[in-house]
Amino acid sequence: MTTSMAAKHAADKRLKDAIFGASAACAEAAKKYGADKVTNATMGVMMDDQGKLACIPTMERVFRSLSLEDYMRYAPISGLPEYLDAVIDLTFADQKPEGYTAAIATAGGTGAIHHAVANYAERGSSVLTSDWFWGTYNVICQECGCRLENYKLFDEKQHFNISDYTAKVDEIMSRQDSLLVIINTPAHNPTGFSLTEEDWEQVLTLTKKYAAQGKKMSILVDIAYIDYAGEKNETRRFMNQFGNLPDNILVMFSFSMSKGYTAYGQRTGALVAVSSSKEVIAEFKEINKYTSRATWSNINRGAMTLLTRIQQDKSTLAQFEKERDAFYQMIQGRGSLFMAEARECGLNALPYKGGFFLSVPAADPQAVCDKLHEDLIFAVPLKMGVRIAACSVSAAKMKGVAAKVLKALRAV
Ligand code: PLP
Repeated sequence: MTTSMAAKHAADKRLKDAIFGASAACAEAAKKYGADKVTNATMGVMMDDQGKLACIPTMERVFRSLSLEDYMRYAPISGLPEYLDAVIDLTFADQKPEGYTAAIATAGGTGAIHHAVANYAERGSSVLTSDWFWGTYNVICQECGCRLENYKLFDEKQHFNISDYTAKVDEIMSRQDSLLVIINTPAHNPTGFSLTEEDWEQVLTLTKKYAAQGKKMSILVDIAYIDYAGEKNETRRFMNQFGNLPDNILVMFSFSMSKGYTAYGQRTGALVAVSSSKEVIAEFKEINKYTSRATWSNINRGAMTLLTRIQQDKSTLAQFEKERDAFYQMIQGRGSLFMAEARECGLNALPYKGGFFLSVPAADPQAVCDKLHEDLIFAVPLKMGVRIAACSVSAAKMKGVAAKVLKALRAV
């Protein structure tokens, strides 16, 4: 007899981790054949070309220079005020939309997504995101008593599928008075895709249509990979469109230090909001502070201080940006190499624009990944395809991977 002590609503919670199996198989192969023979495309962290964890040197230097107090004291529940100001500046760069803004410190980008779902999606309602998506969105929605629905991210030309997006929004809005949409751009996980400014215009036209009917429309833009997508003002230009929207449209951003500062384990991020309504922003600060109190209280003071220190000193910031840009170029080079080889050999890879991952659609992703093991390539089988981590595979090892993926696809 199996015994469960869990409350009824909790007893079925199980985390399915596609990455765990793949990385375990990879570790075994590395032991058997040597790490240099194995291509580990399963990782969600950046590795340098020697296969070592890549940390931005200025981040390390400043982090190690902090005092014990900086690490150990409590921080305010909403976050250190200087941190919140810096996060708002970093989120928008020179593309700050007209309106009121606020930020609240969260435990990573994950915490920001949690707060957005917990406080801006009605219990029992549908939250919308694309069919290629980061699985954690679903876990968060379930935890908050919501349901995640999907629209098709790509049309037949591999452009943003505005018609399926519209169809799904129409369907949900026929039964809901409010909607939270999660859009992970630029440099989407798992495809590396980014919405264009025109895509955003279309998304906002539809959002305004429902706002004009009195519905509450919230959009969470997940910008976890924005620092690996291109020049900072270019990648943020779409944010200008979020100014002067009706006050029943709220745009939020999940900001994360994990990738941008190579500070994954420090669990520091923020939920940022922009609105034309002062009241909506005042409410945002209150309700998210409350949710923070109820989940983790205050977050990592040291990491918030680290970001503030880097941001406040011009020459430190310039050095930091230079170092991060070099890592961006490194990943971009690996992704571009894969995409060029995919074009050459006729592999249908999804349109990678930047970021940590790229993906190839497959009918049986697990079988394709298993087949790739024969070539000592380890990738992650998702529901709709195979994810390859440009962040962790050196350019030397990336050479030839596209052709091997094609071979595996044809063999299964
Ligand atoms: N959003 C996406 C799409 C991600 O892939 C990740 C991390 O893997 C995050 C947000 C947030 O990460 P963290 O909670 O480490 O900040």
